[in-house]
Amino acid sequence: MDYKKVNNALRKLSDTATKRVLCPADFVDICKSVNVCKMYYDIDLGYGRYTNPRTNKLIISNDIKDGKIILYDEGISSDLKLKYTYYYDDMEYVHAFIEFHEGIKKEDLELELDLYQFLADQMYIIVSRQNIRFMLDYAENYDIQTSIPNIYYLHRFYHLITKTIDATEYAVIFANLRNFKYINQTFGVRAGDNVMIKLAHTVIELADKEECVSRMGGDNYVFLVKKAHLNEYIEKLQNIKISGLDFLPNKSIDISFWTGISTVEDDDANIKSLVEQASVACSLGKQQLKKPVVFYDSDLAAMMAHSRNITAMFRPATENHEFVPFFQPKVNMLTGELIGMEALCRWKHDGIFIFPDQFIPVLDRQGLIHELDMTILKETCLAIRRWLDMGIEPPRVSFNISRKNLFVPDIEQKILDIVKSCNITTDRLETEITETAREDEIDRLISFLSKLKQNGMQIAIDDFGTGYSSLSLIHNINADIIKIDKSFVSALGRDSRSGVLIETIIQIADRLDMDVIAEGVETADEGRRLIDMGCINAQGYYYSKPVDFDTITDMIKNNGFKPIIS
Ligand code: C2E
Ligand code: CA
Ligand code: CA
Repeated sequence: MDYKKVNNALRKLSDTATKRVLCPADFVDICKSVNVCKMYYDIDLGYGRYTNPRTNKLIISNDIKDGKIILYDEGISSDLKLKYTYYYDDMEYVHAFIEFHEGIKKEDLELELDLYQFLADQMYIIVSRQNIRFMLDYAENYDIQTSIPNIYYLHRFYHLITKTIDATEYAVIFANLRNFKYINQTFGVRAGDNVMIKLAHTVIELADKEECVSRMGGDNYVFLVKKAHLNEYIEKLQNIKISGLDFLPNKSIDISFWTGISTVEDDDANIKSLVEQASVACSLGKQQLKKPVVFYDSDLAAMMAHSRNITAMFRPATENHEFVPFFQPKVNMLTGELIGMEALCRWKHDGIFIFPDQFIPVLDRQGLIHELDMTILKETCLAIRRWLDMGIEPPRVSFNISRKNLFVPDIEQKILDIVKSCNITTDRLETEITETAREDEIDRLISFLSKLKQNGMQIAIDDFGTGYSSLSLIHNINADIIKIDKSFVSALGRDSRSGVLIETIIQIADRLDMDVIAEGVETADEGRRLIDMGCINAQGYYYSKPVDFDTITDMIKNNGFKPIIS
C-alpha cells in the first residue's frame, strides 16, 4: 500500500466533503491506491434516503444496492471481504465493507490489515460527518411527512433571494386547508396522509424558481410568491384537484384553502412578521369574516393593535374590579310586570364605560372570555345577595356564557361553586348561551346545559335564529326559554319574512313547551306586533337600556312598566 498516496487521497476527500456533496467519483483515488475493488457504506444512518423535492434527486448522489450505499465498484473481487463494525447501545452495526481484487488473499495483506481498518474508519468518519450534516439540515429545513420545505427553509430562502431580487416584488400567502378533517373522517387517516402528500407536491408545482412553498405543519402552508403571480395563486388555491389516489380510482378530490396575504412594502420587512400578518389575516377570514381571501392592510393592523391593547389591559382591569354587570329589564308586555333581567358586562375604565362589542370578541379570540364570564357571574350573584340583604325580592337574573366555556374543565361545577359562594340558590339564575352547529360542540353543549338544569338553573338559548341549524338542534337541547334575536324584531316593519320567522319560532317553542322572549324591542308598535303573534315577553330599549345597580334597584322596587295595549 502506498501510504503517502492513501493519506493524500483521504485528506482530499475530507476537504471535498466540507465543500460539497460527495459522489462516487470522489472515492476513485483512494480505492485505486489500494487493492480494493468494491467499497460499500452502510445505510443505517439514513444516508441517501432523502430526495430534494424541487429536483426529485437524492440529496446524496450515491447509488444504493441491497441496503448499502456503493462508494466504489470496479473489477472482480476475490473471496476476501472485510467487514468493519461499531457498537451503539450494545448493538453491532456494520459501517463499511471492503472487497479486494481477484487473486488477493488474506495472507498477502496480513501486515496491512490494521491500515485497512484505519482506512475504513477514516472513510466512515468523513462520510458520517457529511451524512449527519445532511440529516440535520433536512430535519431543519424540510417537512418530514411530505418532504417539501418547511417554514425555516422559506425564511432562509427569503433572505437569499432578496439579495438579488427586490423584496417589494414579493407577497406572503398563509393558507389553511378547508375542512381537511372531513377527508380523514370519510376515508381514514391513512388516506388523509396520502392526500396531504399529493397536495404538497401539487402546490409546490405552483412555484417558479424564485418562489417558495412551505408546509408549516398541520394543515397550514406558507407561500412566498411574486406579486405579479399573486392573483393566479389566489385563484388556484381556491380549487385544487387531487387525483390518482389509490382509494379513489378515476375520481378526484377538490381541495381549497382559507388564505391570508401580506405584501412586502419595503426592503427591510421582516419575513417572520410578514408570515405572522398573513396568518392573522387568514384566521380572521376563517373565523370571523368567513372570507377565503383576506389581505393584511392598515385596518387590520389597527384591529390587531386594539386587540393587543385589550389583552394587555384585561388582567389588571379584572383585579381592579373594572368589569361590572349592568342590568336590563325583561318585561311582560301585557301587564307591564318586571319578569326578569339580563346581566350585561360593562368595562369602567378611567371613568368611561367601554361597551362589550369593543372587547368581548377580542377576549373570546384570546381565550380570556371564561375569566370575564366568571367575573360577571360572581358580581351578578353578589348583586342578588345585596338585594336579598336589603329585603328586596329580585326577579330571576340571566347571565351570558360564551361557548368557549364548554371546553373549560369542570365548568359546570365552577359555576355552581360561584353561586354557592355568594349564598344564593341556583333558581335565581338563568344561563344564556348561543346555539351551535359545530359538531364538536353539540355534545358538550347538551351535557353542560343538562347539568346546570339538574341543579335548578334555567336555560335560555340566546340570539335564536342566527345560527344555522337552530331548528334541528333545539329538539336536543333541553332549554326553558328561546330569546328571539333582535335582528328579527328590528326587521318586523320592513320585511314580511321576519314576521313569518318569528311566528314559526313561537309555534316551535310552544310545541316544545318553552317560553319565548323577544330581544331588541324599541317601539310600542314592535311590541304590539309581537303580542299579536303570541310573544308577550320583551327586552329592549322601549322599556330600558341596561342600567347600573342603583337604577335597576329602583326599577325592581317600583315594579311597573306601562302595559302595551294590543
Ligand atoms: P346579547 O347577549 O344579545 O345582549 C343583548 C344586547 O342587545 C345588549 O348589548 C343590549 O344592550 C342590546 N340591546 C338590548 N335592547 C336593545 C334594543 O332595543 N335595541 C338595540 N339596538 N340593542 C338592544 P350589549 O350590552 O352591548 O352586549 C352586546 C353583547 O355582548 C351581548 O349580546 C352579549 O353577546 C355580549 N355580552 C355582554 N355581556 C357579556 C358577558 O358578561 N359575557 C359574555 N360572554 N358576553 C357578554
Ligand atoms: Ca344575552
Ligand atoms: Ca341576545
